[in-house]
Amino acid sequence: MAVKLPIYMDHHATTPVAPEVFEAMRPYFLERFGNAASRNHAFGWAAESAVEAARSQIALLIGCKPVELVFTSGATESDNLAIKGVAQAYREKGTHIITSQIEHHAVLDSCKRLQKDGFQVTSLPVSRDGRVDPADVAKALTPKTILVSIMLANNEIGTVQPLAEIGRLCKERGVLFHSDAVQGVGKIPVNVDALGLDLMSLTAHKLYGPKGVGALYVRMGKPRVKLVAQMDGGGHEKGRRSGTLNVPGIVGFGKACELAGQLMAGEAARLTALRERLWAGIRARLDHAHLNGHPTLRLPGNLNVSFEYVEGESLLMSLKDVAVSSGSACTSASLEPSYVLKALGIGEALAHTSIRFGLGRGNTEEEVDYVCDRLAEQVTRLRAMSPLYEMAQDGVDLNTAQWSLH
Ligand code: PLP
Repeated sequence: MAVKLPIYMDHHATTPVAPEVFEAMRPYFLERFGNAASRNHAFGWAAESAVEAARSQIALLIGCKPVELVFTSGATESDNLAIKGVAQAYREKGTHIITSQIEHHAVLDSCKRLQKDGFQVTSLPVSRDGRVDPADVAKALTPKTILVSIMLANNEIGTVQPLAEIGRLCKERGVLFHSDAVQGVGKIPVNVDALGLDLMSLTAHKLYGPKGVGALYVRMGKPRVKLVAQMDGGGHEKGRRSGTLNVPGIVGFGKACELAGQLMAGEAARLTALRERLWAGIRARLDHAHLNGHPTLRLPGNLNVSFEYVEGESLLMSLKDVAVSSGSACTSASLEPSYVLKALGIGEALAHTSIRFGLGRGNTEEEVDYVCDRLAEQVTRLRAMSPLYEMAQDGVDLNTAQWSLH
């Protein structure tokens, strides 16, 4: 069967809205357009009850109470609200925050902002396969630590972090635990109690919902997390985030979570098999291809590969009918090698040759095979122009090679 071009394999950047999600949203743009805060007429009541139904759908997926969810404009806002909101609320208790070097910029830059404001931040390193060691968290905790923020799964290398172990440590020490879980929710089972989380950031557009809507889970009992709101205004969301609710977006977010809950087990198995097919297909066709991240403890749909001796951007440009990414979509405007790959200890040269494949609901075996063929073609073509590749083929060790006569 001929594949339909272009092929989308960048599901970490965003996902298409599922048709069922789109249909669920439609009436809330048209006939049921009310403001969920309008308490005195049927339009408002319809909007409010749709928002509450969505809140329950999302809560069910992550094992929390509906009231513990605060709707936001997406995970960037959720991360900001969690980190700055906790820091400001607990300043009297302490001013130390622990995070990791491979967090999304929404977390890293929120922490940087707090550093300018007098907080101390410890950014933990990760292992070669991208995992935070819980023992490092234990060592970094001090009596002044108020928050640990470690992502569930990385957006570039897909590595899944040992959150349950870190959560137990935080609980023992009475420290709040936040996770940016946007890449994992809807892909792998997530339960806030099992992971020991007090705060968790979510976004709809990574799980076949619409862009521009997200949520922050904020634990309400044992402990009851305090938060300083970052948005002042009408006091929506129990004062935790002011602003008129994006009703169609929230309805879509709820439907996307419901669908994800139903499809997750089957999709995880299917995408893991597709990912392994892609990796096997690459290795069968090409030498000098290196896997980045953990071989098994990774998101089902994530594959990150360095194609040695090939510049990643040139490879991207040559794969015109395949949408993949070199490094994170959010930073692909710059040509700096990915800070995530650098944190794994991958050299700058190899980091520049990496491609992130994000497989998702629409991808098929035929597409994977097509991508393997195109990759083999283009990598071989680009390597034919690389003097370094030629030297490596001739058995020259590039690390010890003498480059000049002086
Ligand atoms: N956190 C992670 C891990 C992400 O991958 C992204 C999106 O790329 C975000 C946060 C930002 O999410 P949003 O686009 O909803 O602001």
